[in-house]
Amino acid sequence: MRKPVMSGNWKMYKTPAETTAFFEKFRPLVEKSEHCEIVICPPFTNLAAAVEAAKGTRISVGSQNVAWAKDGAFTGEISGPMLKAVGVAHAIVGHSERRQYFGETDETVLKRTQAALEFGLTPIVCVGERLEERESGATEAVLTKQFQKGIAGLTPEQFAKIVIAYEPVWAIGERGAPAQPEHVRVAHAAIRRALQERTTHPVPILYGGSVNVDNAAPLAMEREVDGLFVGRAAWTAPGLVDIVREVIATRRPLEHLAIDLNRGGIPEAADF
Ligand code: PEP
Repeated sequence: MRKPVMSGNWKMYKTPAETTAFFEKFRPLVEKSEHCEIVICPPFTNLAAAVEAAKGTRISVGSQNVAWAKDGAFTGEISGPMLKAVGVAHAIVGHSERRQYFGETDETVLKRTQAALEFGLTPIVCVGERLEERESGATEAVLTKQFQKGIAGLTPEQFAKIVIAYEPVWAIGERGAPAQPEHVRVAHAAIRRALQERTTHPVPILYGGSVNVDNAAPLAMEREVDGLFVGRAAWTAPGLVDIVREVIATRRPLEHLAIDLNRGGIPEAADF
């Protein structure tokens, strides 16, 4: 079984000093974690501080966007080579807030995804339907369209290097309500079907939208959920660690039990 991918999206929050402070708390809690991949995505201005703070750990640092060009007259954009030079490994592409407020389209998502791949970053490609689309029963159609117009043209080799995040727009942020596992099951199955027409590679599909410590385990237990994409709940080190621990416990109950028994039944925070 693949390791779950646990990704934290900090959106437009935290300064470099706050980033360093986060990692000082976060590092000792996840240092020994071998059972999941952790990707923290701070704002651009904090990437260098995050990479520095994550050195020597298994924590990866991701950006929240990436330009579709290597360089050029693109004021306000940051390119793949620039991100690589700082030590960034992942890049979120097509987050619904970028689609909603900054004109991101399926076409630009494809261009950004291809650029990320070209410059050696792992794109975390976001898809998800709006509330009215869900209410009109169009979830699968929207996801399929976003897939077809966005990334269907990637080569099998490129598919082997991407991560997809299903992020229903209505589930994200303070006004969002988390999707129920049954909804996530259907949505992820639709994405998986679209993927299977293009690649045999088991592309990880993460769920994101109001994930918290209470709903993390039921969501992570869904067969096609390969990890979680966490916004608000990932902004404090203990908050994210609690969620990671919940997810790991759903994935490896027997190993977990063995560890607990070896230690006299008391699991330590760092050992998951
Ligand atoms: C997000 O912004 O990608 C997200 C999942 O946010 P939240 O968890 O706060 O809903």
